[in-house]
Amino acid sequence: MGRLVVLGAGIAGHTAATFAKKWLGDQHEVVVISPNSKWNWIPSNIWVGVGYMKPDDVIFELAPVYEKAGIVFKQAKALSIHPEGGEGEEKPYVTIEYTDPSKKGQNEKVTYDYLINATGPKLNFAATEGLGPDGGNSVSVCTYLHAAEAANALNIAIEKMKKGEKQKFLIGVGHGMCTCQGAAFEYIFNVEHTLREKGVRDKAEITYISNEYELGDFGVGGMHIKRGGYITSGKVFAESLFTERGVHWIKRAHVNKVEKDRVHYETLDGTFHEKEFDFAMLIPPFAGAGLKAYDKEGNDITSEMFNPGGFMFVDADYSSASKPYEEWSVKDWPKTYQTPKYKNIFAAGIAFAPPHLISKPMKSPNGTPINPTPPRTGMPSGIIGKAVAASVVDMMTGKSDKPTHKASMGEMGAACVASAGAGFFKGTAAAMTMYPVIPDYEKYPNFGRDLNYTFGELGLAGHWIKHILHYMFIYKAKLKPGWTLIPE
Ligand SMILES: Cc1cc2nc3c(=O)[nH]c(=O)nc-3n(C[C@H](O)[C@H](O)[C@H](O)COP(=O)(O)OP(=O)(O)OC[C@H]3O[C@@H](n4cnc5c(N)ncnc54)[C@H](O)[C@@H]3O)c2cc1C
Repeated sequence: MGRLVVLGAGIAGHTAATFAKKWLGDQHEVVVISPNSKWNWIPSNIWVGVGYMKPDDVIFELAPVYEKAGIVFKQAKALSIHPEGGEGEEKPYVTIEYTDPSKKGQNEKVTYDYLINATGPKLNFAATEGLGPDGGNSVSVCTYLHAAEAANALNIAIEKMKKGEKQKFLIGVGHGMCTCQGAAFEYIFNVEHTLREKGVRDKAEITYISNEYELGDFGVGGMHIKRGGYITSGKVFAESLFTERGVHWIKRAHVNKVEKDRVHYETLDGTFHEKEFDFAMLIPPFAGAGLKAYDKEGNDITSEMFNPGGFMFVDADYSSASKPYEEWSVKDWPKTYQTPKYKNIFAAGIAFAPPHLISKPMKSPNGTPINPTPPRTGMPSGIIGKAVAASVVDMMTGKSDKPTHKASMGEMGAACVASAGAGFFKGTAAAMTMYPVIPDYEKYPNFGRDLNYTFGELGLAGHWIKHILHYMFIYKAKLKPGWTLIPE
């Protein structure tokens, strides 16, 4: 019997583990190691952050789901990978530290035959002084607990406005190298919508702050979309929405300090500014989970397996990063997510190291990089998790000695339904699809993407779709009957 160990029970890890177990059956063991006892449908944290949903609506306990599926669950965080084994252990293994209250702090070695690293992002609030909810001066919606705190802070601001006080809202990203602008975009329009619903919109000044060169970049270099029969740029699409809702914007910004009532930021032209706020929700930059790696003799090989940001090297062409932006190609992006040195280790979702940015790299005259880093959103993370699981299953069962499934972001579409205000009759959402995620200027010389599959629309129907997706993905993640039929 072989053992597959999956690190992380988020979108990529949970997808990989559940499909692998379904395909492997009882012949092989699947072990999931993840520090949180709960699964979180992260996209709906936005609605927790405005009080439209409660934390309990977006989470469920993982242990009973894994028990029913026959998956071993260890509530623990992985600390290190030993791909060649080590002292007293011939097999490769990971070291873990339990977060499970009954074993808290205990360490264990878990051996594996195959390993999937799907540890997602570490929320790197420390990169910006004063950023974040834990001892900092801004709120976040990145976890359901952060989002619940954001909803409380929003309520306090609303109460002040009801008494006639004006409030300044600043929502966006808290560093020049952030990704996940989509979450900030969704949150700002949900806040704007909530303030209108509460009858206090006239008391609020709302500003978006972002490292994007233009609105609508989203870390994918922007996009052109087909909308109502016309081709329009994402910039125009986004700017018209901001204008229509009376939301101001600051773009090309690197936030370098967050104080109690203001942010300090540098813009791409090298000038420095301040912006006051009463309420700030700023997404942090993402780093890798911080796993270490050691060879058989115990030498530290972390830098051979992970990039300086902590993301795991896979089958991408990392030498392309030294080429000029104009020479970057869709072919630089990974296909199988197998690590180059260890054929039994894969990385899926945010955990893999991208070869380079998707948006054009930019630096201020002071040398500060101000550009969105590449997103690996929910749909690609799920698709990659499933493809990696399929390859691992084929390798574990002896069908192949190399990965059999590919999931390049250069040959993959992504759909995103960005909520712009919740409500069954008054809600709206921007439903966007793009194909491929990584622009391919060889195949699509004009816009880098196929405009038959790249479109966006804003409306109430989008809200309903977003609502349906919320229930569908939680249903799927709970492995309820027919779960495999629901696409990633
Ligand atoms: C507020 C918000 C809204 C979003 N909205 C959307 C949306 O509408 N659509 C969309 O497509 N995407 C959205 N995203 C992005 C989406 O959530 C991510 O792309 C997706 O979760 C990435 O999947 P992942 O599995 O790589 O990481 P995650 O889902 O973050 O999972 C990582 C897992 O690894 C675990 N882990 C961490 N450290 C360790 C360790 N040391 N050992 C073991 N396990 C560890 C974590 O606990 C977690 O279980 C949103 C993100 C945010 C923050």
